[in-house]
Amino acid sequence: MKHEDCIFCKIVEGDIPSAKVYEDDVVYAFLDLSQVSKGHTLIIPKEHARDVFEMSPELAASVYARVPKIAQGIKTAFQAKGMNILNNNEAIAGQSVFHMHLHLLPKYDEGEGFDAIWKTNEDAYTSDELAAIATSINEHIEK
Ligand code: 5GP
Ligand code: ZN
Repeated sequence: MKHEDCIFCKIVEGDIPSAKVYEDDVVYAFLDLSQVSKGHTLIIPKEHARDVFEMSPELAASVYARVPKIAQGIKTAFQAKGMNILNNNEAIAGQSVFHMHLHLLPKYDEGEGFDAIWKTNEDAYTSDELAAIATSINEHIEK
């Protein structure tokens, strides 16, 4: 279902031009304008979903099923040494386009392209606190 005023729906429809990497019945993949690293690609479901929280299990399964072959294509095309795969959800987490997308960010050399900042808080929690956090999350996962 196309959403009015969604730029990624317009890209799927061809109303906004894009550099297409891959397309099938479920996903559309195209180069991110920002090209954080060469071949930086976005994979989006053709069906509009705002973010991961709005994805049905079926849509998620079919979108994520396409990731390995597209990732492999980018890696092989430009001999990437690695890849970060990133999905931002809500503005506070860096989302700026509200049509769910996965960033595929090939990594060629240290110090270039995307860098994940991974600040550890390992010392901030006791094992009991970690168990309580895990239980709390589990209780909120639909069974
Ligand atoms: P987000 O910040 O939501 O995770 O990522 C949105 C991405 O979409 C950004 O990296 C931005 O460069 C990219 N983007 C925004 N508008 C366009 C567009 O019109 N065409 C393409 N190819 N990429 C876009
Ligand atoms: Zn959309």
